[in-house]
Amino acid sequence: MKPVKPFTVAIVGGGAGIAFSPNSIEAMRLIDPKIREVFLKLATKNEEKEEEATWINFRSGERESQLIAKVRTTDRDKTGLSSVHRARFLEELAAMVPEEVAQFNKRLTYLESSGGGKLKLRFEDGTTASADAVVGCDGVRSQVRRFVLGEESASQGLAFSGKYAYRGLVPMERAKISLGEYLAGNSQMYLGYGGHLLTYPIDKGATMNVVGFKDMDSTWDHETWVLKGRVVDMRRDFVGFGETVERVVKLIESVDIWALFDHKPASTYVKGRVALLGDAAHASTPHQGAGAGQALEDALVLSCLLDDERIRSACDTSKAFAAYDAIRRPRSQKVVSTSRQCGMVYAFKGPGGDDVTKIEEDLTERFEWIWGVDMNEQVRDACSLLG
Ligand SMILES: Cc1cc2nc3c(=O)[nH]c(=O)nc-3n(C[C@H](O)[C@H](O)[C@H](O)COP(=O)(O)OP(=O)(O)OC[C@H]3O[C@@H](n4cnc5c(N)ncnc54)[C@H](O)[C@@H]3O)c2cc1C
Repeated sequence: MKPVKPFTVAIVGGGAGIAFSPNSIEAMRLIDPKIREVFLKLATKNEEKEEEATWINFRSGERESQLIAKVRTTDRDKTGLSSVHRARFLEELAAMVPEEVAQFNKRLTYLESSGGGKLKLRFEDGTTASADAVVGCDGVRSQVRRFVLGEESASQGLAFSGKYAYRGLVPMERAKISLGEYLAGNSQMYLGYGGHLLTYPIDKGATMNVVGFKDMDSTWDHETWVLKGRVVDMRRDFVGFGETVERVVKLIESVDIWALFDHKPASTYVKGRVALLGDAAHASTPHQGAGAGQALEDALVLSCLLDDERIRSACDTSKAFAAYDAIRRPRSQKVVSTSRQCGMVYAFKGPGGDDVTKIEEDLTERFEWIWGVDMNEQVRDACSLLG
């Protein structure tokens, strides 16, 4: 057994269906093979054997659902679009964390340096804690980000991506009666002018998950980012997207609306012994299904750095954090920008407009650099910066 390190790191944070790509699943395996096992146990895949490795079948909504591109994952496990219920997966992950190292249901309200290199954390319930280092994984509206970026966080933080998404669920039996077994049971994205609609199976095939993305020209003026939506508005928004999309939308009985924001590139993810991880560092739009995967990659690289034998004391943690920032910032920020571009391509606003040949070329290449990364190399590169 490895010796326990003589310093404490406080990890702040922990946040319906979510799909994980090959790089995400590989990061899970490298962090702890049990995480991948739990994921694979819970995951729902495309129903048909020959669609197992399909990430998404991209179709033109209005052109009778004509197939534009079949994007497949190229990993050994043929994971395709494997999705889990977020809360269920988190429950299983939480059960794997030893009780003595985690406290749940704490909400950070303030973080400050408290002298002697220690950091003081204040929580909403009036309690406080101190740590030698802090990792903020507290999501897109992170408190820890404020500490790390200060003014920059306030002045160049979040940007509305110009899209909102309707999220709804349809019992698979009903979906299959209306759409047929194949379209309902396997992941499809219907592209159109100014919007796109995604469907895929969840709950081990009992439910069809629907996400309808719509462009808007104005800014997002609502106080909250998640609103109760109206089915009648969704139907109106997707008129002209073709018969299949209209059938999908008719099946929806209730929807939520999510405004989609992302982060402008931060100049750093670290400040001394405080680091940002996941959406707190680089929140992205969901168009490449890559946001949570980047959080997993962050976690892998950071944990390997902290585990390195050259990180011996609390003072060394800032060295590990600096190496983490150098390796993770460029890649994760590139994901944020390509994800936004991808949303444009889906809405026929990319460089190829509505030219289906150009869209096919674009989508066939757009995912591989994210999925095909060598995670061990990222870890090696980061550790080599420790000197
Ligand atoms: C509509 C939509 C669909 C998406 N689909 C996918 C997908 O299919 N695949 C994918 O890879 N990504 C997807 N993403 C992106 C993905 O959800 C995020 O990248 C991922 O959840 C980031 O994980 P995180 O742990 O960094 O942040 P979160 O999941 O936001 O978790 C942050 C956690 O911190 C907690 N927290 C917040 N503030 C505090 C505080 N002050 N103190 C303590 N705790 C706090 C929150 O309660 C939450 O539990 C999607 C995003 C959206 C909006």
